Amino acid sequence: MGSDLRLGTLCYGCGVCTSSCPIARTNPIFDPRQILRKIIVGKEDLYLENTIWLCSMCYNCQERCPQGVPVADLIFSLRNLSCRSGSVPQAINLQLDSIRASGKTYPLDEFDMKKREKAGLPRLKEKVTDVAMLLEENL
Ligand code: SF4
Ligand code: SF4
Repeated sequence: MGSDLRLGTLCYGCGVCTSSCPIARTNPIFDPRQILRKIIVGKEDLYLENTIWLCSMCYNCQERCPQGVPVADLIFSLRNLSCRSGSVPQAINLQLDSIRASGKTYPLDEFDMKKREKAGLPRLKEKVTDVAMLLEENL
């Protein structure tokens, strides 16, 4: 996944992406329009900014952009550049380790199980090894 960063030049800065973004609404340091601005001015080390990892990949921005800018895909491209340069934030690497070990981004404990029980939901398996296998096959 990902897109050619040059597609960012279609952006005219309307801000629809930012106003549609659930992460920008709760975390003021994340602003997809700002990311597009930096792409347009050719900020070469943009892929090193930790904020690109805050995107939840919900695609609201991409669905709504009046210019058809593939905002989420461009953020994905920046993440790919970050991975290739070996500069992925430690928190992301820890999540990857957890997925390898248990198939989950963080280990489930009794607290999580009790919350599920209260909501009338069944217990979850602590390990989903199939996910870890898929990950190994695709790396
Ligand atoms: S919605 Fe599209 S055109 Fe508007 S600021 Fe975001 S990327 Fe640019
Ligand atoms: S895909 Fe990322 S940038 Fe776009 S709206 Fe969702 S969280 Fe925000």
